[in-house]
Amino acid sequence: MAEQKDKGFNALGRSLSSTEPALALEIGGGCRAMVEVRVLVINTGGTIGMVPQSEGLAPEANKLAAALRKIPILHDAVYAKETDLYCRSGLRDDTLVLPLSEQNKRIIYTILELSPLLDSSNMTPAEWDDIAKHLQANYEKYDGFVILHGTDTMAYTASALSFMCENLGKTIVLTGSQVPIYELRNDGRSNLLGALLFAGQFVIPEVCLYFYNKLYRGNRVTKVDTESFNAFSSPNLPPLANAEVDITINWETVWRASTTRKFEIHTNMNSNVGLLRIFPGITAAAVKAFLQSPMEGVVLETYGSGNAPNNRPDLLDELKKATDRNVVILNCTQCLRGTVSLVYATGKTLMDAGVIPGADMTPEAALAKLSYVLSKPGLTLAEKRQMLNENLRGEMTVVPIRTQITLKDSKFIQEIARYLFISCKEELAAIRDALTPPLACVAAKNGDLEALKALQNMGGNLSCGDYDGRTPLHVACCEGNLEVVRHLLESGATVYAKDRLGATPLMNAIKFRHNDVISLLRTTGAHLSSQELLNVGTELCSLAFNGDVDGLSAWQMAGVNLKQPGYDGNTPFHVAKAAGHARVVQYLKTFAA
Ligand code: ASP
Repeated sequence: MAEQKDKGFNALGRSLSSTEPALALEIGGGCRAMVEVRVLVINTGGTIGMVPQSEGLAPEANKLAAALRKIPILHDAVYAKETDLYCRSGLRDDTLVLPLSEQNKRIIYTILELSPLLDSSNMTPAEWDDIAKHLQANYEKYDGFVILHGTDTMAYTASALSFMCENLGKTIVLTGSQVPIYELRNDGRSNLLGALLFAGQFVIPEVCLYFYNKLYRGNRVTKVDTESFNAFSSPNLPPLANAEVDITINWETVWRASTTRKFEIHTNMNSNVGLLRIFPGITAAAVKAFLQSPMEGVVLETYGSGNAPNNRPDLLDELKKATDRNVVILNCTQCLRGTVSLVYATGKTLMDAGVIPGADMTPEAALAKLSYVLSKPGLTLAEKRQMLNENLRGEMTVVPIRTQITLKDSKFIQEIARYLFISCKEELAAIRDALTPPLACVAAKNGDLEALKALQNMGGNLSCGDYDGRTPLHVACCEGNLEVVRHLLESGATVYAKDRLGATPLMNAIKFRHNDVISLLRTTGAHLSSQELLNVGTELCSLAFNGDVDGLSAWQMAGVNLKQPGYDGNTPFHVAKAAGHARVVQYLKTFAA
């Protein structure tokens, strides 16, 4: 697997001191400009924020933000004061800021505490709905999201949210800890810091789980240890990223929605679902009782590669009767690692009874998937069964039927490798990863769809930025090539990518007034970042002063309110009127009424 290294960024303490951002700001034009990003932390409870009470550890409300404020690696008090963090418009007083990261980003994070805070053993699908609704309500206001959660049911919540968040384009990271953050030795600080850095600095558009220096796909994990800081395992999928001395992100593994649809949430999951673990000697009566109405979907946890006894007609009869009553049964293995397959006759018997093979899904993911699919309105049972067979969010491994073109097949890469005397797979992959961003940007500039497809077929990641952080989508948006923009979006390119100066593809499309591109980006959920919106009033006034209706209409299409005043308090309407631009006045009357 090819890996891309984001060198020079350390999750644990290689960030700059609070005196350095001022330097970065002062010399920002000529050097690396500092970019502020916003992360919302939704605190649901869990050990990370627990304190000892008479009955044992329990969460305590309204304590976390104040405690974090005193921890220098989690809050840069000097920067907060210098930049008047709390008085800045739109920022809540439970907002904190991390020290400047080596990638020159300032992560400003706001803590939203749910009430009551829960031990995750007390969580239910009602709390999942609650979290999802907060994600939706705040989706456009933040660049990424962290969810603080107890470890006991974190894998269930992560799995559920992965399905509930449809067409996700931003990073959501669940984390927590084994020891409360208030204790001297704890894993909460590093877990929270790592989660914030991933959510704020990388567009990994998945519901992830960060624990003990690893970023996992949320619907692939399971809690495996109650005593170690290394509490989670992702047995069937390597981590999406490792935060060691360097951050290594396995971009090839990152799941992308690959759609031009906007983010939305699905709530009210079906609760008539359950997990049934078979064991030697399980009675038909127990199975029958479990499968009784109102049960609609069951994850059957079977032996080894999906086997159940085929010498027990009483048991198979109960399963068959249930599937005939339209109860959906999904077959998952009890083994930590591996997949359900049809190697054994004992597994085939279950298929014959109408049980659906669940590949290598964890029981947590399988349960969440069942609950999600069964609650989808307007689908026939056949369509729901089909959906369960499909890989919806990277929750299972499907072996591709079509043979992929591999790196070895690329003449171009082979030629380069020959000149560089390179032959091993890893080095070839490294060349591909180094060459993909500039080549893809050129292809996007030239509107060369074939070249883009060829790069994709080699496994090149079309979401990666070039030396300037500009992705092929940025370039295509500047050029206004709608076909290329659509292709990139449908191939998983993110509308939330920011270049070195913090500009998004939407901002590029506005600048070059490509209204059809703006409209497509907006459909996909693109919006301007808080940094991009900072001086928008003044920009609008300047367009009004110049009589530039096209420029104003591009901003309007991007969802900007044209009534915003400039630095001196005058609105674009006032400015156009004073400058005598009748067309602009007329336009603003219609669109900024
Ligand atoms: N019981 C706790 C919870 O799940 C355990 C933890 O957070 O580690 O909320």
